[in-house]
Amino acid sequence: WSNETIAVVTGGNKGIGLEIVSQLAKNGVTTILTARNVDRGQLAVDQLRAKGLPNVAFHQLDVTDSKSIENLAVWIKQQHGGLDILINNAGIISYFHKDKKQGAMDVVATNYYGVKKVTKSLLPLIRPSEAFGRIINVSSRTGQLQVLRSQELKEVVSAEMLIESVIDSFVENFLADVSTGQIISKGWPIIEGRGPEAYSDYSVSKIALNAYTRVLAGELMSRADGPKISVNAICPGYTNTDMSLGLGKKTVGEGADTAVWLALLPPSELPCGKFLAERAEVPF
Ligand code: NDP
Repeated sequence: WSNETIAVVTGGNKGIGLEIVSQLAKNGVTTILTARNVDRGQLAVDQLRAKGLPNVAFHQLDVTDSKSIENLAVWIKQQHGGLDILINNAGIISYFHKDKKQGAMDVVATNYYGVKKVTKSLLPLIRPSEAFGRIINVSSRTGQLQVLRSQELKEVVSAEMLIESVIDSFVENFLADVSTGQIISKGWPIIEGRGPEAYSDYSVSKIALNAYTRVLAGELMSRADGPKISVNAICPGYTNTDMSLGLGKKTVGEGADTAVWLALLPPSELPCGKFLAERAEVPF
């Protein structure tokens, strides 16, 4: 991979995102580390450069802020003309939100709507080439359809002819049910042994992200000039980061592995519209 290959990683200042940036840069890719906080992002870039990775650059990006996304898109166009690899890694979980409704809204705004906004804004800049432009959504196995306890909800998001507005309604219905305290009765996911709301919202945000990945894959594969950009979702596995409160069993190196592998895979082996973990396909 040459330094003319440009990758953008969201939430790159720590955790799995930082490790993805580091591994891509080590493989010769010019990698733009983005972070919502300028100081944290710039510090991370300075540290990577000090470790001998001059091909890492910084740009601010808050995935929930449309203006920030637009600024990044303009900068990429001016500096690089486009990009080749987009890794939607930024994500939050609502353990510490005291207000559960606000927590659910923030999680969905970041993990689902944030990925969509960034993708829609940068997609026109992703170079469709023989090497394939690539979008990699860092999702989670807590977003697998099997976690939904209602058959009706499962059918909504697994429909063959699924469209984006249906995923949006699915998410909005969830937020309405959070407001009226109907998480359990309506069959939204509950992760055993933990408070329902905090985990339902994370899980629903990732179910929606996975569904969006499939819808976008369908659109990219049916392009008039043929598929030249791939999109896939991955689960890093339970990884030792701030998000897992340090309890994750995998190192960040292991957590970043499938995303980096997909980013660098030869085009002939590149899947599209799949959900992968440990370098293998897993069910949506
Ligand atoms: P961390 O909490 O360590 O890092 C999350 C990153 O996302 C941080 O850089 C954070 O920035 C950034 N971020 C949060 N909100 C925004 C925003 N609005 N705009 C831009 N950046 C934002 O988490 P992980 O590294 O563990 O998680 C990375 C991804 O992996 C997430 O999508 C997560 O859901 C997924 N994942 C993680 C697992 C795990 O076990 N760790 C398991 C399965 C999936 P800041 O420092 O400013 O908060």
